Amino acid sequence: MSRRPEFPHLASFSFDIEDWHHSEINKVGSERPSESIVRQGTTAILELLSKHGWRSTFFVLGDIVREHPDLIRRMISEGHELACHGMSHRPVWQATPETFTQELREFRKLVRDVLGHDPVVGFRAPTFSIDRSNPWALDVLRAEGFLYDSSIFPMKVKMYGTPGAPVGIYKPSRENLAEHDPSGDLIEFPVAIAEIHRLGIKIPVGGGFYLRALPLAFFRAGLDHILKRRPFALYLHPREVTPEASRTPLDPVDGFITYVNLHTVVAKMEHLFERYRWTTMHDILVREGMI
Ligand SMILES: [Zn+2]
Repeated sequence: MSRRPEFPHLASFSFDIEDWHHSEINKVGSERPSESIVRQGTTAILELLSKHGWRSTFFVLGDIVREHPDLIRRMISEGHELACHGMSHRPVWQATPETFTQELREFRKLVRDVLGHDPVVGFRAPTFSIDRSNPWALDVLRAEGFLYDSSIFPMKVKMYGTPGAPVGIYKPSRENLAEHDPSGDLIEFPVAIAEIHRLGIKIPVGGGFYLRALPLAFFRAGLDHILKRRPFALYLHPREVTPEASRTPLDPVDGFITYVNLHTVVAKMEHLFERYRWTTMHDILVREGMI
């Protein structure tokens, strides 16, 4: 008999495929670890997904598509969704409509070179860098053939956020990206935030840091709470499943954010893979009737 509780929605475990030095925090570190953890971390993730029989969405940097074409082919051959995380992790805050357009086209060309076709319909900005300051980015995504975005973080945290934006899947209005427009033509699928109305609080449970730092029972309660109401998406990085890799020296706060409980991640993922039903973000949008 399955231990899996029944929920009305599916969940998506997404992965942002980048190296140590791509993250904003690690850029500040004085030394880079010499070894890339992309191959080791992504392979470990693919093995875990295969072991549990789930499909996932990989938001990959163009630089990684170029450096590791075999990993990209493996993702596709194992039924996963390939999506775009930009070329080299430059936040969209630093782009113009022209340079952002060029970047997306460069990414698509690389994908066609590697796969012979281009299945990409999803985008997640580095550092969740689409917010009220650059709503034009959504117009560029529409024009460049994307069906959904996962870049608007619907609460304010240290480095980013759009407080007031919906926490569930919605269609951003062209006038106000934090408002739903039923006739909108781009879908926003934000990463998981648990809204506990009774307590008047929002808890971001989407990311690897929260998975690592929060006790599993607490994290799981947040996910259960969401999944009774709507689908959710989590996100994790290859560096979070390679606890044995060498580390960048960081100040105590950034060090805590980056490294706390790294050794617990794989066991927690296994638990979550058994507790919920998982699929790609694109598949969830199809099942929910959004696409
Ligand atoms: Zn990233």
